[in-house]
Amino acid sequence: MSKLHLITYGCQMNEYDSERVAGLLRGQRYELTDRPDDADLILLNTCSIREKCEDKVFSQLGLLKHLKRARPDLIIGVMGCMAQLQQGKIQERAPYVDLVFGSPAIARVGELVARVKAGRRPVLETGEGPLVKITARPETVDRLKAFVTVMEGCEKHCTFCVVPTTRGRERSHAPDTIVEEIRGLAAAGCKEVTLLGQTVNAYGRDLTPATDLAALLEQVNDIEGVERIRFTTSNPYNLTSRLIRAIRDVPKVVEHLHLPLQSGSDRVLERMNRGYTRGRYLEQIAEIRETVPDIALSTDLIVGFPGETDEDFAETVHMVEAVGYDNVFVFRYSRRPGTAAAVMEDQVPDDVKANRNSTLLEVAGRVAAGRSRRLEGRVMPVLVDGTSRKNPREATGRTRCNRVVNFDTEGRDLLGCVVPVCITQALPHSLRGELAHRGAVTRLPALVPA
Ligand code: SAM
Repeated sequence: MSKLHLITYGCQMNEYDSERVAGLLRGQRYELTDRPDDADLILLNTCSIREKCEDKVFSQLGLLKHLKRARPDLIIGVMGCMAQLQQGKIQERAPYVDLVFGSPAIARVGELVARVKAGRRPVLETGEGPLVKITARPETVDRLKAFVTVMEGCEKHCTFCVVPTTRGRERSHAPDTIVEEIRGLAAAGCKEVTLLGQTVNAYGRDLTPATDLAALLEQVNDIEGVERIRFTTSNPYNLTSRLIRAIRDVPKVVEHLHLPLQSGSDRVLERMNRGYTRGRYLEQIAEIRETVPDIALSTDLIVGFPGETDEDFAETVHMVEAVGYDNVFVFRYSRRPGTAAAVMEDQVPDDVKANRNSTLLEVAGRVAAGRSRRLEGRVMPVLVDGTSRKNPREATGRTRCNRVVNFDTEGRDLLGCVVPVCITQALPHSLRGELAHRGAVTRLPALVPA
């Protein structure tokens, strides 16, 4: 067997793509190694969403240059979003890279590697390709939880975002193909699936006949073995009452919604081309909370978008408090080549972005801590997915609302079980708990809905 070392940057979709690549290359007799110096093939699966992500890849390539010099037979490849967006720059700054390919070419990775071996010339493959569902997975990945891409691409054209350029137009996989993939995962022991799409709640509108995410959730709900269904990322523009009701009514769909707001200012939202206002977003939140009172909400926010004033930023801070998010991801605006916002004149200085970033993190942390404290004293079903890093006597798992919980297993192996845990303490990044219903411990896995 030859050895493959894979380095993945960026989003869950990249993690999913990396698993497919490892699975496909296994068919070409490549097995995974953790050690770059042991590898015959090193692939970097890259992200272009912010400049910082690209900088990390270039510095990694700088380190790999020495390995390549010592072992000229080593094949180095760059795949994913940077391959699509920055192929020229990659060739210029790292001419020792043998292979550059975008996500549409993943299905042909075996053939591309063979071409490099045969010709020892750089192979470039960065155009659009047909939509292919690849289900290959390496044996080493997490069996309990899996990502499943249900659609590729994005057609939203938010003015800050490169995704439409890097991942192409929006295309949904057929429901049958997705269901078949998840059946296979469930048969191999998977309990929780996360359905992925750049705008996952636009799922199915491009199919004939058209369908939607709510219908897909019902189909996935029927798959035996799957206990929890998550989905991300939703866009407020495409959020429907039907989907909100599905979160309430489809039993395995968890009470957690990631709904990127990006900014709390209508002026900024318009310049971002997001297609909704803060008022509309708040109406949606009210409907969600009324329909699913226990739901946990998380969001993405960008600080320092071109033209963002102190007043605009104050409106974003206010929205974090008004919505009451359980988790907030804050990003400093990064100029991305080819996007409309990159050429807007009123770019915000870095120090202002940095200040807004820390202010927002501080407010979001305080709001999230308040939300966590409300969980103290409650008994919640926890899907156990590992051992606590700090204490091997403790298990770690997640609530349906996506909170990490650590608790003493009292010596039992509960991996893969859903157990009732009483939340005893809310910490900044996790919850502490203790097993509930101790008397009935042998029946624990069956005690609560997942
Ligand atoms: N497609 C999703 C959407 O539009 O809501 C999210 C995709 S992106 C992988 C994740 C987050 O990165 C976005 O929600 C946004 O907050 C952030 N992001 C995207 N482009 C950015 C940029 N140019 N600068 C800073 N943050 C950015």
